[in-house]
Amino acid sequence: MVGQLSPSRAAAVDERVIVHGRIRTLDPARPLVEAMLVEAGRIRATGTLADLAALAPDARHDAARGVVLPGLIDSHVHTLVTGLERRRLTISDAGSVAEIVERIRVWLVENPTLEWAVVGAHFHEEDLAEGRLPTRHDLDPVSGRTALYLDRRTHDAIVNSAALRLAGLDRRTSDPAGGRIERGPDGEPTGVLIERPAADLVFSCIPAVDGAELRAALAEGQSYLHSLGVVGAAEPGLSPAELTAYQDAWADGSLTLRTMAMPLVDTSIDPDDFLATVATATRFGDERLRFGPLKVYFDGTGGFGTALIGQDWPGVPGYRGTQVCPTDTFQVLADRCAERGWALAVHTVGDEAVRIVLDCLERTDRSHPIRDLRFSIMHAYLAPSAESMARAARLGVILSTQPAMQWRVGAGIAERFGDRLAAMAPLRAWSDAGVRMAGGSDGPDFPMSPLFGMWQARSRRVRGRDSPLGPDSAITPEEALRMWTIDAAYYCFAEGERGSLEPGKLADWVEVSVDPIDGDEEALADAVVLRTVVEGREVYVR
Ligand SMILES: [Zn+2]
Repeated sequence: MVGQLSPSRAAAVDERVIVHGRIRTLDPARPLVEAMLVEAGRIRATGTLADLAALAPDARHDAARGVVLPGLIDSHVHTLVTGLERRRLTISDAGSVAEIVERIRVWLVENPTLEWAVVGAHFHEEDLAEGRLPTRHDLDPVSGRTALYLDRRTHDAIVNSAALRLAGLDRRTSDPAGGRIERGPDGEPTGVLIERPAADLVFSCIPAVDGAELRAALAEGQSYLHSLGVVGAAEPGLSPAELTAYQDAWADGSLTLRTMAMPLVDTSIDPDDFLATVATATRFGDERLRFGPLKVYFDGTGGFGTALIGQDWPGVPGYRGTQVCPTDTFQVLADRCAERGWALAVHTVGDEAVRIVLDCLERTDRSHPIRDLRFSIMHAYLAPSAESMARAARLGVILSTQPAMQWRVGAGIAERFGDRLAAMAPLRAWSDAGVRMAGGSDGPDFPMSPLFGMWQARSRRVRGRDSPLGPDSAITPEEALRMWTIDAAYYCFAEGERGSLEPGKLADWVEVSVDPIDGDEEALADAVVLRTVVEGREVYVR
């Protein structure tokens, strides 16, 4: 499946250009400059306009209207899902079960012949006027013969009776390991499937999206991300077909979103058997497409109340969340990856999940040091302990964090726990502990603008709450900007080529309407991107 690197693919722009304006380089030697000389897709020099004009008298001048920053990198984004959702029904913003049912009804009237319909449905119970999720009983009257699959952030799903029937799920089906089939008083499934192993019982029956559709979704997701100033992405949890779509786009030169593609670990099969299937994939890479660490799910989510925590979930006595990957499986995976020089990117939300994962990684580290392999924990926002932060720092484990997710789910979780919860997403403490933080959005479930993410990390504002949530955990403007530039580049093994505007690095840059260092903090939430440039070429102009 691995293709040959083609030098002609990234044909260079020969023209010499001096970009001038207010340029934040993130180069510690000269963080703010007036001008930058770009040639053949790379930065040749930075400095004053006069100096660079003397250096390159023939260069074309390009005056930036906004502030110039290094091309932004989203270290956790589902580009393909973003594209797919822009091509299918999405009802994540619905305010009631009634509205959900009506929107599906209208859409199915327009699309009457579908056997299956996948719907983006990332709402939370508390968003809905009825205070509960819909079930198959709500969906059946409007869905006819179409099997409905409402996707909730790839973790949970809500399906109708037609879908349950096609998947062969009924009262006799037992819960899969790490998942739960919600049941009514009669023992029959309600259609609500908790966590991926349960959702997969139905999802695996849906005909796979074909290669052409995946390629179209990639193109659509990519251009949307460019419009937000994103030039680089790490996409976790890809299937072999999805990796192939990326590789095809890379091979024909249409992939302008530099991507670290992270294969999804199938924890239902033996770790050695699984790792044998990705042996070649993980050795592929250049600055356009690199196959990165393997993504593995360890627990559930905070917003849906399934994260693995060190106390009972409020209102659910005896339930401390769902561990979707057994500890011994995880240990073997971590050991085998470290032996090969690979890394794992681990979905961990709750404090207990973070603790167990770091326990395992510490064990792995004793036989195969992992410090330089760039293992990461993703999310880890539900009250991680100081001890966990110190251990992550010691092991070189990176925190992949998504402030826009906090904005979306923070108020609901805070309300649920009340005083029983220590700080959520304590970025100040993570940073002080010495853990490197890579910023991302986890879009399309959450707002995807990096500038919005920076605003949240600094302001700690959350949706549906007047006061900031954990203002003591706010980070500085400089730290927030690093999360989507140089530190995200490190996460993507690309800090030598990207993440700052320094001589020799790739000419990936964006022009934004608000200065994320000394501009108005509130304005950052709605700041716009004026231009996005990859390797000296404009990929988005407002
Ligand atoms: Zn995600």
